[in-house]
Amino acid sequence: MPSWRVHRGLLSHALRAVSASELKALGDEFVRGVFIGVVEPDEVPDKATKLTVSVSRRGYTKVRTRKSYVRHHTADTALIEYYYNLALYYARRGRNRLAGVALGRAIHYAQDSAVRTKKYLIFNVHDDVEKVMDSVLLATGGSLHSLCRNVDKESSADAVEALCIAFKKTLAILTSFFRELSTPVDVEKLRKRVLKIRIAKACVALAGFATAVILQSWLVYGLSLIVAIALALYKPRTYIEAMKAGLMVVKPTDLLPALKGEAFTCICI
Ligand SMILES: [Zn+2]
Repeated sequence: MPSWRVHRGLLSHALRAVSASELKALGDEFVRGVFIGVVEPDEVPDKATKLTVSVSRRGYTKVRTRKSYVRHHTADTALIEYYYNLALYYARRGRNRLAGVALGRAIHYAQDSAVRTKKYLIFNVHDDVEKVMDSVLLATGGSLHSLCRNVDKESSADAVEALCIAFKKTLAILTSFFRELSTPVDVEKLRKRVLKIRIAKACVALAGFATAVILQSWLVYGLSLIVAIALALYKPRTYIEAMKAGLMVVKPTDLLPALKGEAFTCICI
């Protein structure tokens, strides 16, 4: 993974593209938070979970989970999106330091994903790439824009290309964050839409279980349980919009993020 100096160097280069008034609106706490967050996943890791659900013939349900640390260079985009959304969630609530940390974590994974790893080769150019990235970043001093003008890839094993891709990804995240933050949202309308969806989900789940009781059928009960789990895991677009508006936090299904939202706003159905 890129050194902390590269992570922070890319961030400070990209932050120059953000207008002073936008940064000022979130204050120094936000900027401090982003610089913490952009290196934090190396020290405070995120975890992934694998969930298996089995239902026996007698209706006993077993839920098993296995945990592992998330990979940085091949990080699930769901994790990047989660931290990006969490940053907007905190910013809308005026928790600017946490908004910064969350955005920094999203940027960290996006930057890591710019370096292509060669998993199956004994010789791995990975470490060399990062050393060169470090020296290129130091040498550029000023702007990376001209150096990166013609780089248009998702990841690369070439140091300069990887540096440019990481820079562009950082810039894209920052630009999108400030654009979304400056767009007004109708919180009350969103709250009502979320409530409607939750009521609809609860009705469907209850209807299933009621049918199982009426028919006294384990099969219908098992099916209802599967439907209820699927409904609980289903996160419509409205939930994500509500998260970005600061209403609630939608956690990724198979990930255990190190930075969470405020507990009482967690979405359960
Ligand atoms: Zn990393």
